Amino acid sequence: MKEPFQTALGIIRTLQQHGHEAYFVGGAVRDLLLNRPIGDVDIATSALPEEVMRLFPKTIAVGLEHGTVAVIHEGTPYEVTTFRTEGKYEDYRRPESVTFVRSLYEDLQRRDFTMNAIAMDEHGQLIDPFHGQEAISKRIIRTVGNAKERFSEDALRMMRALRFVSQLGFQLSEETKQAIIEHTSLLAHISVERITIEFEKLMEGPFAQQAFSLLVETQLFLYLPGLRAKEAELRTLIDYDWTALSSRGQRWGFLCYMLHLSDAHSFLRAWKLPNRLIKEVEAILHIMNIIQSYADWTKERLYEFGIEHSCAAEAIRSLISGESILENQNRLQQLFASLPIKERKELAINGKDLIEWYKRPSGPWIADMLAMVERAVINGVIDNKKEQIKEWLIPCNQKHEKNC
Ligand code: ATP
Ligand code: MG
Repeated sequence: MKEPFQTALGIIRTLQQHGHEAYFVGGAVRDLLLNRPIGDVDIATSALPEEVMRLFPKTIAVGLEHGTVAVIHEGTPYEVTTFRTEGKYEDYRRPESVTFVRSLYEDLQRRDFTMNAIAMDEHGQLIDPFHGQEAISKRIIRTVGNAKERFSEDALRMMRALRFVSQLGFQLSEETKQAIIEHTSLLAHISVERITIEFEKLMEGPFAQQAFSLLVETQLFLYLPGLRAKEAELRTLIDYDWTALSSRGQRWGFLCYMLHLSDAHSFLRAWKLPNRLIKEVEAILHIMNIIQSYADWTKERLYEFGIEHSCAAEAIRSLISGESILENQNRLQQLFASLPIKERKELAINGKDLIEWYKRPSGPWIADMLAMVERAVINGVIDNKKEQIKEWLIPCNQKHEKNC
């Protein structure tokens, strides 16, 4: 058996030796069949969470209410989840409590799409009661059972369908697509945090353009934070190669820029993104307002904005203008490398030096003067050497005082 299944096999064997059933399930089995890189290997078992915790020396109760225990095996955590159904769904959301069941079939039946409802046993044999393999070979995303019912049970599945389109490039089955069109408004019942997780995966996938096209076609965008009045702008996103963007900051920055938002801060907060990311996106957008073409870059601007945010903004700008992102980022990297100093703390003088030289008390003049010295150093007017700065500064300042 291929890695990472081979290593995880130890867990399955232990469970079986104690009289339980255990299988590989979910995304890892799907990705194995698709020849995609395999992410987390999940295991489903007939053993109850307490039994799982008793059988393995190192476990973490990560989601006991959903029957999930993380088993640390050879240094890696594996999620081991008791066969379950999700009982009664209320409010179109995943239920708070679940019912443990003893059959694999019922566990597979509660899963979202047929391609995600395939189990694999210890010999690599597939258990596929909902024809997930056929859906995979036809590249189709189809709900397990009646699509309308499944989206009514948990409306997040509609977002998951579109994020799988983006990750896999599959088509939605006609029934699944129609059911989304008819149930879009149920997304309003889902917490923003869960929606954001799926939306970020959607933006990141190799087929994001296809997914954005479906967001508009199904009208699901109407129930996404801050997008209700942005249909025309969203349509423009379909034309761009999102894979050219290489970070969360770049993707959110691109989205905000293309949406022509008047208040990007509120928009990003509505998606409940972490503050650090919001600040990064705002910094990128600030740069994009100033740099309209590559010719607008100066050493001073690059120094002020820093290389990280500058490269991010340049990626977005180049993508929109159809220029080569790599080429422009390389040029920017070279310009940055040519800067004599990269940040203020590399300046050969500081505020204390100025106080000593001018014999004036500390005040706002220090920051002004440091900025002036910084500019001169960056532009190569003077070297970043204390003596040279002092020589340049004193007569220069005297000239200032004479108002020339
Ligand atoms: P990824 O590779 O992105 O992790 P995944 O298929 O493993 O994709 P997860 O979100 O990790 O997706 O979920 C693991 C499995 O749990 C899915 O394959 C699916 O069988 C099931 N699942 C997850 N979310 C839902 C849901 N909302 N409704 C029904 N089944 C779900
Ligand atoms: Mg997963």
